[in-house]
Amino acid sequence: MESVYKEVKLMMDPNQAFVSGNENSAPSRFGTKDIEDVSWKNFIDSLSCTQCGRCTAVCPANITGKKLSPRKLFVDLRYRMTEKGFAILKNGKDYSDNKSLINDYISKEELWACTTCNACATECPLNINHPSFILDMRRYLVMEEAAGPTGLNAIFSNIENNGAPWQYSSDDRLNWTL
Ligand code: SF4
Ligand code: SF4
Repeated sequence: MESVYKEVKLMMDPNQAFVSGNENSAPSRFGTKDIEDVSWKNFIDSLSCTQCGRCTAVCPANITGKKLSPRKLFVDLRYRMTEKGFAILKNGKDYSDNKSLINDYISKEELWACTTCNACATECPLNINHPSFILDMRRYLVMEEAAGPTGLNAIFSNIENNGAPWQYSSDDRLNWTL
């Protein structure tokens, strides 16, 4: 990820952060929280979706009763783009309505229900890429809010402390073979 690469580069040489116009300056935010963070591809996807429902029909999360509907995600994005986009044009780029795509339109429960199986993207007649959009929003939750599911947060802590996803020290690794 380019944003993470830049962040690590800045950590290696903090003076770069104060060079004006530096293309390596830190990103304002990791991942997608609201429409300002959405990629142009996701934006065009939301406008081109015909709402045919093929993506939701093959989604294993939806089929097994989870809250997730891949079609709804792009309908939500289109709605939010229209709502906030026009308000920004009218009130300037710093406009805020104290709402965001995540939480006010798309819940964490929907985002974490995705298995990233890619069935939705494979089925979509318009080549819309749902998993990349979902992963961008998950990335915001994990990297900006540390709001991942409990199980994932435990794995992240273990990797940070032990260099492995388990709660055991990496120094004890050879014990596993006994
Ligand atoms: S399959 Fe594609 S076009 Fe149809 S509802 Fe899903 S995202 Fe929209
Ligand atoms: S990638 Fe996620 S949203 Fe798409 S079909 Fe699989 S579980 Fe459903």
